[in-house]
Parts: sequence; C-alpha cells; structure tokens
Amino acid sequence: MSVVICDSCGRESEDLRQCSVCKKNLCSDCARYMVVKRKTIYKEFEDSIPVCKDCLPTTSLKKKLVDIVDAVLGR
Ligand SMILES: [Zn+2]
Ligand SMILES: [Zn+2]
Repeated sequence: MSVVICDSCGRESEDLRQCSVCKKNLCSDCARYMVVKRKTIYKEFEDSIPVCKDCLPTTSLKKKLVDIVDAVLGR
C-alpha cells in the first residue's frame, strides 16, 4: 500500500479526500466541505463535496469585503 501525503499540511494519512476543485489530496483535518446543489433530470438535491481551504468559497469573507467598501465610501 502506498502512503499518501496531504498536499495541504504534509502529513501522511490513510484517510485522504481530494479537493473537488484543484484535486489536491487532503487529510481529514484539512478537508472542508462545500454544499452544492446538484440537479438531475429527476430531482434537485444538495450534496456536500470536499474542498481544500483555498478553494472554499468564503461567504463571511465576501461579507467582510462588502463592509470594507461601505466604510471607504464614507457611510
Ligand atoms: Zn492535512
Ligand atoms: Zn482546492
């Protein structure tokens, strides 16, 4: 069995996931989950896919950016 190394923290792990966006190997500590909507011809459902922290869409960060823009405009 080959040892797989987490691309994010460099640790060896037997329980690796793969980032769905950039295909990095991720150990269970580094994996984050993103909820996506999937649609088939039969139904629409929510699915969680593993992503690395670099590819995780940060809703809170986007909100922060909006706040910064508002501050700059002198609200
Ligand atoms: Zn890791
Ligand atoms: Zn990634």
